[in-house]
Amino acid sequence: MINDKLYDCSVLGGGLAGLCLAIQLAQQGHSVVLIEKNTYPFHKVCGEYVSMESWNFLIHLGLPLHTFNLPHITNVQVTAQNGYTASTELDMGAFGISRYTLDYELSKLAKQAGVQVIENCKVTDVKLTNEIYYITTTQGNYIAKLSCGSYGKITPAFITKPIANKGSYIGVKYHIKTNFPADVIALHNFKDGYCGISKIDNNTFCLCYLTTTKNLQNNNNDIKLLEKNVLMQNPHLYKLFNESTFLFDKPLAISNISFNIKSTYVNDVLMLGDAAGAIAPLCGNGMSISMRASKILANNINDYLQNKITKQQLITNYTTKWNASFSVRIKIGYYLQQLFGKRVTTLWSLKLLNNLPFLFKKIVSLTHGKSF
Ligand SMILES: Cc1cc2nc3c(=O)[nH]c(=O)nc-3n(C[C@H](O)[C@H](O)[C@H](O)COP(=O)(O)OP(=O)(O)OC[C@H]3O[C@@H](n4cnc5c(N)ncnc54)[C@H](O)[C@@H]3O)c2cc1C
Repeated sequence: MINDKLYDCSVLGGGLAGLCLAIQLAQQGHSVVLIEKNTYPFHKVCGEYVSMESWNFLIHLGLPLHTFNLPHITNVQVTAQNGYTASTELDMGAFGISRYTLDYELSKLAKQAGVQVIENCKVTDVKLTNEIYYITTTQGNYIAKLSCGSYGKITPAFITKPIANKGSYIGVKYHIKTNFPADVIALHNFKDGYCGISKIDNNTFCLCYLTTTKNLQNNNNDIKLLEKNVLMQNPHLYKLFNESTFLFDKPLAISNISFNIKSTYVNDVLMLGDAAGAIAPLCGNGMSISMRASKILANNINDYLQNKITKQQLITNYTTKWNASFSVRIKIGYYLQQLFGKRVTTLWSLKLLNNLPFLFKKIVSLTHGKSF
């Protein structure tokens, strides 16, 4: 089935990047179709710590965050595998909200703004022919003047052929009830990984970790065994895993995560969010980077659809602004990631940071951006 309506823009994937882009374009008066393979609301592997830099943006988009009773996170603690702790204050801080709530609320906002949100529908191909994008999905085909890829971390086969060397990280998430301060995010190191905990909505905490695929393989591909043998060697994690109530029946996990360099324009498709850049969780703020990218892209697309700039200018302007806004931050996150999960390096880095509190604060502030 072909839907013969020609949309101004098609958005492939309805996470934070895609939803925020679609809402802004619809609010600017453009017709948008957004295709999401899941059905809202749904859980997603993510630490659910959102830098305050995004607060005003979300309010401006129409999300009444101040009515959600969200925790304000103002301190960070980092622990080494032996439990040694370094801590500092966060400049701007963050708020905690589950992706279940955040993506769902944004999907409702998108529908209200007039976005055609197609759920439970997977994009299987995109082709550009005579300046029109043909989008093939599991629920029929769509046509649009532009196409934006916001499908997240894992690049689908229709964008680039799968590479033999798949991503080598896994992410695991739980929602828990526990005794932990509402204004703190803790990052607990363990061998070849780290696990974050911070408060979210509904008086709940998000416990989420990233580690190598090899670490899991070394533990019989058994998440529970990995947690018992490796994570719980850190006394803080031992306590959390043994003294909390776990709310999911089973862990939520994703595999094949990579932090390779990507591009903002591939196969005629404009990329944003994790689809455009390798965002290590230690940039702290992949979600804010995704939302900020959606704002940059929406403004450029608006100019293009109003014939103020050419398609080539749209691509160049967006790419230039993307690099200027994020490449330093992404590099810092990448280098910090190398310090984590290593028994001796992590411990000595934390001892150094405890002795040089201004340096600790400075590094943390480099992973956060300004309000937009
Ligand atoms: C372990 C871990 C912890 C993290 N913790 C944090 C944190 O605490 N704070 C923070 O700011 N960032 C964190 N991040 C990063 C953050 O989760 C991402 O940067 C952010 O989700 C990117 O948003 P996105 O919209 O690009 O992708 P996503 O949110 O992943 O959305 C992509 C969407 O596309 C859909 N999709 C994919 N393929 C298709 C297809 N073929 N057809 C249709 N739909 C499709 C998916 O279902 C999904 O809904 C973390 C990442 C990891 C791995």
